[in-house]
Amino acid sequence: MKILVFAERNTALAELCSGARSLGDQIEAIVIGAPGTLAADKIWSIPVQDNVMLEDYTESIAAVMDVAAADILLIESSKRCKLIAGRLAAMKGSSAITDVMEIADNLSTKRMVYGGVAVRKEKAVAGTAIVITGPGVLTGAAAATGQGIVETVAYIDPVSKVKVVSREQKPKVSVNLSAAKKIIGVGRGVAKQEDLTMIRELADAIGAELGCTRPIAEAEKWLPKETYIGVSGLMLAPELYIAVGISGQIQHTVGVNRSKVIVAINKDKNAPILKQADYGIVGDLYKVVPALISQLK
Ligand SMILES: Cc1cc2nc3c(=O)[nH]c(=O)nc-3n(C[C@H](O)[C@H](O)[C@H](O)COP(=O)(O)OP(=O)(O)OC[C@H]3O[C@@H](n4cnc5c(N)ncnc54)[C@H](O)[C@@H]3O)c2cc1C
Repeated sequence: MKILVFAERNTALAELCSGARSLGDQIEAIVIGAPGTLAADKIWSIPVQDNVMLEDYTESIAAVMDVAAADILLIESSKRCKLIAGRLAAMKGSSAITDVMEIADNLSTKRMVYGGVAVRKEKAVAGTAIVITGPGVLTGAAAATGQGIVETVAYIDPVSKVKVVSREQKPKVSVNLSAAKKIIGVGRGVAKQEDLTMIRELADAIGAELGCTRPIAEAEKWLPKETYIGVSGLMLAPELYIAVGISGQIQHTVGVNRSKVIVAINKDKNAPILKQADYGIVGDLYKVVPALISQLK
């Protein structure tokens, strides 16, 4: 099976290329600019253009799809990549299947619907299937070789272009939770924003990054929106996830249920998170977290 891969970020591209080996035997990456070291058999390189938005490379990617004639195009699950996927699907009369959490050998996919309470199976029936997926879904582990053939293709100017009027830097989110091996999730059990200092201390003690539930980011605004986990946020698969003061509603836990080990700290012994956790500590986080920090130190 031939698999094409495209991503906005280099780390996501590398992960998708390695993971794609679990699905197919010919992996080809579409890269804008110079190709890095990837676990790909072939690299299609589109020359970088000045003052061009990522979305304006859609026509060039579509042209690669025509020549490559792959069975599936895997795309990173970012907002801009989803936009590109939608445009590609419209151009090619194919389907864009978003936020896929499982891909079978026959290219049938599974994704969560209705806020995470149901799983829908979908399969593209025409053309190259365009599948958008996040970290940890494809678990092939091919080493990056960098020995793939590189073919440079022409940039195609889109008919309806987006004009870049100005650029402004967003406040930087220093963490890349998708790449983190250990994550501590903060929930509404944490009473005050200042108390995040204590959670950060625990994170530092074990080399973890901080994520949160939606209310902590959207309602309290204590942590950036880019760090909330769940069906409408990040879908992650770290080695260790520690849920601190999180009830464990499905909309949150679907974002972490592929973690290798889940630890939960909650004062309510009936909290749903304790049923999903590998290790549960029933207790007040204001006692448990300082005790853990002191032991770990
Ligand atoms: C369509 C839809 C999409 C959604 N998408 C997301 C999403 O992507 N991500 C997401 O996170 N949520 C999402 N939600 C919201 C989700 O349903 C929950 O409301 C949310 O995850 C709850 O957050 P929480 O666990 O922080 O808070 P709560 O549910 O209020 O839980 C707080 C927990 O802290 C415990 N606690 C309190 N004090 C202490 C203490 N001192 N020590 C120890 N434990 C304590 C309590 O026992 C409780 O279990 C979505 C909801 C909908 C309807």
